Amino acid sequence: MKQLIIGIVLVILFQNFACFTTNTADKSITPKNTQQPDKKDHKMDSTTKFTDLNKDAFALHKDAIVIDTHNDILMPIFIEGADISKDNHNTQSDFVKWKEGGLDVQVFSIYVPVRYKSNHFNYVMKLIDKMEEYSTQYSEIFYLAKHYDELMKAYSKGKFCGLMGAEGGNMIEGSMENLETLYSRGVRYLGLTWNTSNEIGTSARDESTRGGLGGLTEFGKHVVTRMNELGMLVDVSHLGETAFWDVVQISKDPIIASHSNVYNLAPHYRNLTDEQIKAIAKSEGYIGINFYCKFLDPDASSTTSIHNKYKNGLKSIEDEYGSDFVKFNEKRYEYLTENKTSSGTPVDVLIDHIDYIVKLVGVDYVGFGSDFDGGVYTPNELYDATCYPIITKKLVERGYTEQDIRKILGLNFLRVFKQVCR
Ligand SMILES: [Zn+2]
Repeated sequence: MKQLIIGIVLVILFQNFACFTTNTADKSITPKNTQQPDKKDHKMDSTTKFTDLNKDAFALHKDAIVIDTHNDILMPIFIEGADISKDNHNTQSDFVKWKEGGLDVQVFSIYVPVRYKSNHFNYVMKLIDKMEEYSTQYSEIFYLAKHYDELMKAYSKGKFCGLMGAEGGNMIEGSMENLETLYSRGVRYLGLTWNTSNEIGTSARDESTRGGLGGLTEFGKHVVTRMNELGMLVDVSHLGETAFWDVVQISKDPIIASHSNVYNLAPHYRNLTDEQIKAIAKSEGYIGINFYCKFLDPDASSTTSIHNKYKNGLKSIEDEYGSDFVKFNEKRYEYLTENKTSSGTPVDVLIDHIDYIVKLVGVDYVGFGSDFDGGVYTPNELYDATCYPIITKKLVERGYTEQDIRKILGLNFLRVFKQVCR
């Protein structure tokens, strides 16, 4: 009964939210892609709707499928009691912010915080239970997908879609049976390691700080093969470079890095060298750009005070224009441009990482893996998950075409997901 009441309240909340936005294009009412059957079929080359991108950047963002391949909201939910359905003050993301940011698909990170020393697999089962609970409780607005077809079906109905990706192979506790359970319960990628090495292989942090080589263990090699057989994406974010090259040797499917950046721009063990980026592209894989300033900018410092200043300064604009997605984003962008600061990390640095990958291997292999709510501080203008449209505007300013922007916003990951998670 309680769930039913919460569900009804949430539907009303979303419908009210819809009333504040431009009615014809609103996602919760009108499926965005009813005009574009080609998008569903991936014939993305023919998708062009906007003649003046400088004017229509935010309309394009609203129209395109927007996907983020890494988010840690389950951590503040489990540890701090955050509520996914509310506009929480202390989270970077939730249903309200994703909607305001024009996000359509979020891959939820299934991750066991380091404070839990044992029983990782049990903890993971609870996280998955929670995701399934959300899917039932908020079924009017949210759908937890396992396969491409059902993802696209829910998206075409205007629902916000969730996928699950696991972070840290330690959670399977050396058991192939546990890997299979993860798959059967809907987890569609596994990051082979987090920062700590495990039964599968050596992490990037361990490899860099201990100077050890490492690689995949025999068990780890079997895990990769089995993931290929199951139709589960191998995620190399956090993985040591030696193990990375083992994966390249073994995996027959495209390889993804769900939340990693360019080492050549920000030399951090979590980032990818040019050779790694080329290998991922060669596998027809995908790289989700991480919004964490430390992985973007070698000179990064906390952006919290800048974010607070912007959020306060934007209150009146939100009150006045919050009802209109395009207008609000235009006014917000004006404000952010006029109130640029020389400190922190500007969003342009994040665009540099996208640009770098595009120039190195082409436009088909990059997207977003924000890492929101994973304890990260993000570029000045990207203060929370409402801010994805700012990236689209910046891509327009850099001269990206509509097709290219659609690929970066979501179609690149969708291509890989369709191929592997059929
Ligand atoms: Zn991570």
